[in-house]
Amino acid sequence: MRYMLELVYICRKCGKANSIFSFYEDRYKLSEKVGKEFGVECKYCCKSDNIHLNSVHARVIPVYAFIVFGLLLILACFVSYFLFKGYWRDNVFIQNKSIQVVFIGFCIPISVMAVLSISLKEKIRAFNKYRL
Ligand SMILES: [Zn+2]
Repeated sequence: MRYMLELVYICRKCGKANSIFSFYEDRYKLSEKVGKEFGVECKYCCKSDNIHLNSVHARVIPVYAFIVFGLLLILACFVSYFLFKGYWRDNVFIQNKSIQVVFIGFCIPISVMAVLSISLKEKIRAFNKYRL
């Protein structure tokens, strides 16, 4: 799950977020690896800068957020479709129940998404809160 997170710094010249590290539990663990200050070069404007670890922030990698959201949506449709099909064979009162069945089909992936986003937010909060 941590592979969905990254550590970024905001370039002081152009204001864009540069991804620099894969995720660490907190700034202390990261400082053991790279030190409290280190040199970086912006990917966008090529400005070199020295930054302190406190200006490094954790966030969800946008493309992963997009992929996971897409996959869960597909999964929701898939689960709903199979539940719906299963219901069709066994029950005559399809009209009354089908909405409920589709609703359940959507609820499962949405709960997965909710749990995932809560635990990711917790990891991000923990990293950003702990300052050196
Ligand atoms: Zn820049």
